[in-house]
Amino acid sequence: MTHASIEKTGVIRALGLLSGGLDSTLAARLLLEQGIEVGCVNFHTGFCIQSHTSAIRNPKPGAPPPRHDALHAAQSLGVKLHMVDISSDYVRIVTDPKHGYGKNLNPCLDCKIFMVAKAWAMAKELGYHFIFSGEVLGQRPMSQRRDTFPVIDREAGVKGWLLRPLTALRMPETEPEKMGWVDRSRLEGFNGRGRKPQMALAKKLAITDYPSPAGGCCFLTDENYTRKLRDLWAYRNNRDYSMEDILLLKAGRHIRPAPHFKLMIGRDQSENLFLSGFRKGRMTIQTKNTPGPLTLVEGEITAAEDRLLACRIAARYSKGKDLPTVQLTVDDGNVTEVVEVTPLPAHELPDHWHV
Ligand code: SF4
Repeated sequence: MTHASIEKTGVIRALGLLSGGLDSTLAARLLLEQGIEVGCVNFHTGFCIQSHTSAIRNPKPGAPPPRHDALHAAQSLGVKLHMVDISSDYVRIVTDPKHGYGKNLNPCLDCKIFMVAKAWAMAKELGYHFIFSGEVLGQRPMSQRRDTFPVIDREAGVKGWLLRPLTALRMPETEPEKMGWVDRSRLEGFNGRGRKPQMALAKKLAITDYPSPAGGCCFLTDENYTRKLRDLWAYRNNRDYSMEDILLLKAGRHIRPAPHFKLMIGRDQSENLFLSGFRKGRMTIQTKNTPGPLTLVEGEITAAEDRLLACRIAARYSKGKDLPTVQLTVDDGNVTEVVEVTPLPAHELPDHWHV
């Protein structure tokens, strides 16, 4: 990235962080309107709700097929999109965030710093002159505040080279504005959590097809998900996780009857199919004489009473839950056996077993 390249070609190039939501789309569009060449980057952390939804959930009959918002937005904008998997480096952000967590296990400030630093490194490598994001002052309690923007810029090492086109008029001038590459008078000064100004701008720019702002994008802000992650950490006695761990937390009903084992029970056909991809190395329980979900057992269960309890719980979530007995196939990876058990009645399944 050199300024000389601008003198030579007259082309100013900006790399934006694109989630595919309305804000990042508008930010890109404001720069495109100024004749700036825009490229975008979308980071995969392993906690993206959208990629999970497309991977697991069957669309409702008649519903449009699931789409990837960033890909869709990049296509509509007509810009190049770099999709980058940062999930392995991201582990330390989730397990030990310097700036702590938000309401759930969302390390938003550390996450933003990490992504901005990555984007800036990419920009320099790929010949972009500055980076931009769709952040709006006051929109998110943890990371989009007047006092946190400078922290992001400083700790990501990008001071002055990260432009936030939607809120720029409320911020000090950035380097691309000072250099005259970006016309500040054509940027916005949005502020706060309200969406009306963004929607009005979208209308003005004829952007109509964008995802609902209500839809969350990250499992780390989801209370149910983070409860399962805390449970995983607590019973392992450490905060490490593998990609398989975090994928499995996204699907199924999780029940922990004892500290040393947990059951993961599919809630519908698509979850059963998803869970079946993780059979290796785990005991599985499947109903035999009645329809029922696939159950995966996480942890060691060798004691006969633990195995019986696991089977009775699995039977409870089958169509045979009211039958006197249900047959199940239990496969521990070495031996497959058929057992017949009485489904566990509801009153014997305490609430606190549900993770
Ligand atoms: S919601 Fe998730 S992806 Fe977004 S900033 Fe927070 S931790 Fe990062």
